[in-house]
Amino acid sequence: MTEYHARRLPADLNGSGWYSILDKPGPARELEGPQTADWIIVGAGFAGLSAARRLARSRPGETIALIDAQRVGWGAAGRNSGFMIDLPHDLASESYGGIHAQNLAEIQLNRAAIAFAREAAEEIGLEKNVFDACGKYHGATDGRGIETLRAFERHLSWLGEPYQKLDAADMKRVTGTDYYAGGSFMPGTVIIQPAAYVRALAASLGSRVTVYENSPVLRFETGREHTVHTPKGRATAPRLILTVNGHIESFGFFRHRLMHVLLYGSMTRRLTADEVRTLGGEPAWALIPADPRGSTVRRLREDRILVRNSATYSPGMAAAERNIERFGQVHDASFRARFPMLPNVEMEHRWSGHLCLSLNSAPAFGEIAERVYSACCCNGLGVTKGTLGGMAIADLASGAGGPVVEAMLRAPRPRRLYPEPFMTMGAHLKIWWMQRRAGPDL
Ligand SMILES: Cc1cc2nc3c(=O)[nH]c(=O)nc-3n(C[C@H](O)[C@H](O)[C@H](O)COP(=O)(O)OP(=O)(O)OC[C@H]3O[C@@H](n4cnc5c(N)ncnc54)[C@H](O)[C@@H]3O)c2cc1C
Repeated sequence: MTEYHARRLPADLNGSGWYSILDKPGPARELEGPQTADWIIVGAGFAGLSAARRLARSRPGETIALIDAQRVGWGAAGRNSGFMIDLPHDLASESYGGIHAQNLAEIQLNRAAIAFAREAAEEIGLEKNVFDACGKYHGATDGRGIETLRAFERHLSWLGEPYQKLDAADMKRVTGTDYYAGGSFMPGTVIIQPAAYVRALAASLGSRVTVYENSPVLRFETGREHTVHTPKGRATAPRLILTVNGHIESFGFFRHRLMHVLLYGSMTRRLTADEVRTLGGEPAWALIPADPRGSTVRRLREDRILVRNSATYSPGMAAAERNIERFGQVHDASFRARFPMLPNVEMEHRWSGHLCLSLNSAPAFGEIAERVYSACCCNGLGVTKGTLGGMAIADLASGAGGPVVEAMLRAPRPRRLYPEPFMTMGAHLKIWWMQRRAGPDL
């Protein structure tokens, strides 16, 4: 028997805008007393929910305990910008593009994940404001941004992927603002309301899956049966899947191999009918900056605007109110620059969320101890890759196998980080430099 203790627990601050605009959920079902199941999944984000859905289908007679430290949608899965992206999205590159051959394989995998999510969305009957296959825009604010866009377009042409080139007038027609000098439209991305999507997925899992919330796993023991312990109870099962994102490291796995970054977002109050008229543009759109360091901006069907930019390297994974406040001011400036026609519109919600990366963009995926499995570290594209990891880990653990599992197993292991203090100093410096370079894209 081996024991693993959680050195840290997730503690996300502030409800994200996505979570806060939904109806308050009913009371949480916490894990209490001794429970048994055929499967335990820890972490109910994209990966955990997708693994539970996959297993519920492939092993219909078996029971699953899905356990999260927080409410479903309170963690990163309900804090992100909601881009379920099919294309390469290398945040470390100048333009999101990567190595051609790898990108071709990656697109296929991403599309398998999107097809899985789409099937769930159709079955649940999700509306367009929750799951919308409407594509994404990339927006450039100056000549350098346009060059970056054109480089990415060339990359897409090589990959045989469609896109549409847009000029400043096209961008104004879509967004209502003349801030963008040009853009590109890529049709394959699905745009989600992340908190609503994960909450709906959790509610759709069926009677063999029990979702326990507000139940942090403090430790677990492995053996013939694995047992996980929470403050009020414990659960036992022969197979354990960890879909805890960067917190896999908190249990002692992949140590010194994962980078923890916090990202920051703000969402406005609902625009009035007059403000909607003044803004113009389309009723909903989702835009990624030409420069990966700039601002992601979304207009929601609910007549709100989201601004997401800024990052901190946070090895302790802990969010800080002062940073949410500080970067909130950056969001305000980005909003004012783009939407001067909305001078009285304030941000209503501000939050941060955790992103887990590795130096070589590799996932923390596979069987990490006997019948203990990990699908963690999504490298900035967790809406798609979390879904993919969840599907694949369920297939690996159940013995179903298949090409997605094989592809995931072929991926390299996350590379070791540089020794401290160089790693932390270097990461801070790189983020600072990248944000400076974003210029007007911020
Ligand atoms: C502001 C922001 C914007 C982003 N935008 C995008 C985007 O547009 N597109 C995109 O693809 N990605 C985006 N991301 C990244 C994306 O949100 C994550 O990569 C994704 O949520 C990872 O999914 P996951 O299921 O692996 O992990 P998570 O969603 O983090 O889920 C892990 C769960 O594990 C739980 N957990 C952890 N430890 C324990 C424990 N000890 N006991 C019990 N439960 C535990 C947590 O509470 C959490 O709910 C963004 C992230 C942020 C923060």
